[in-house]
Amino acid sequence: MSTILYLAHTETDGTLAKISREALTAAQELAEGMGAELAVGIIGADVSAAAESIGSCKARFLGVSGDEFSQGRYASDVAAAEALFKVVTPDVVVAPASFRFSRAIPGLAVRVDGRVDTHLTGLEAENGNPVAKRWFYRQRMMGEFAREERPWILTLDPGCFASFEGAGSVDVELVDAALPEMRTTVTGIQAPDADEQTIRPDAKTLFVAGAGWTKKQSDGQSHVQEAEEVISQFLGVTKASLGSSKSLVDISGEGQAVISFLTHLHQVGQTGSTPRHTKGLATCCHGEEPHVVGWRFINERRAINTDASCGWAQGKADVLYVADAFELVKKLNELLA
Ligand SMILES: Cc1cc2nc3c(=O)[nH]c(=O)nc-3n(C[C@H](O)[C@H](O)[C@H](O)COP(=O)(O)OP(=O)(O)OC[C@H]3O[C@@H](n4cnc5c(N)ncnc54)[C@H](O)[C@@H]3O)c2cc1C
Repeated sequence: MSTILYLAHTETDGTLAKISREALTAAQELAEGMGAELAVGIIGADVSAAAESIGSCKARFLGVSGDEFSQGRYASDVAAAEALFKVVTPDVVVAPASFRFSRAIPGLAVRVDGRVDTHLTGLEAENGNPVAKRWFYRQRMMGEFAREERPWILTLDPGCFASFEGAGSVDVELVDAALPEMRTTVTGIQAPDADEQTIRPDAKTLFVAGAGWTKKQSDGQSHVQEAEEVISQFLGVTKASLGSSKSLVDISGEGQAVISFLTHLHQVGQTGSTPRHTKGLATCCHGEEPHVVGWRFINERRAINTDASCGWAQGKADVLYVADAFELVKKLNELLA
């Protein structure tokens, strides 16, 4: 009988993140479909709370614990994953594509002479064998594939499986992981406040700011400072995710006044990102094809533009408000406040 090893790491508070619970659902469904045994391996400072939070899962529970494993670090994570692997000797390893595991898990594949595929969006058993799905070529093509080689090591992207829920008491077999000399010390994490973090993949709405926010307006002046205030107020009340057109993020490189909290990471489009949100609102953005191609996974699309014949009017938006975005978003902010 084949064996599937599900790997997870705890967060710094000892819990399991949503992405880890989603990967467990995938691993459990795969084990059922393949008629395989499931083993759960958790890495963290103390894995007991995390194990109990998913204790109803029918699996053998193993853990690597200790202070050295509280923070993500390639050397300790890959050593812990390898130790768990050696106890279980699985055919398939399923892990979340978290930042921490995206760094370490491909290294596990090298150590155990396996094959790795990352950022999967689907995984199921067909005729008792695992079949994976992922996007290729910047999300233009969805590929479905299987491999002969074992062990096959897989990381799963967030949002593709239901989060596993079901606590229960479990006995965790603790496994020793031999650590090499550690050359990296994690001294802490510097992260912006939740409100400063404007790329919010879980938000319902995507708010896109285009270059029009920095262009001369009807009074012959540009109003970048005012644009910043209006946009950040909107993001503050709605908790929408912020996206941008390429023109707007490129303007900073041209020495013009810019919206200070926009970076190239916000760029949506052909050479930017392809976010997934239920709704999208494009403001002061023309709606050209290289930009709108990044809206492929936005279900309901609206745009605000002073130009009634802008790209959004050419069948790219469900609703186009032909209006001044400064006035309209200010009014929206008033209503939402
Ligand atoms: C190979 C290639 C790849 C590219 N990749 C990308 C990409 O990944 N992402 C991307 O975004 N672009 C990409 N582009 C660029 C793209 O073609 C456009 O140039 C860009 O999207 C235009 O940005 P924009 O709409 O913000 O600016 P503009 O075209 O300058 O449009 C500004 C808009 O603001 C409107 N406006 C001005 N003031 C107001 C106001 N007060 N109220 C309402 N509306 C107002 C104007 O009517 C205008 O429509 C790519 C281009 C190429 C050639």
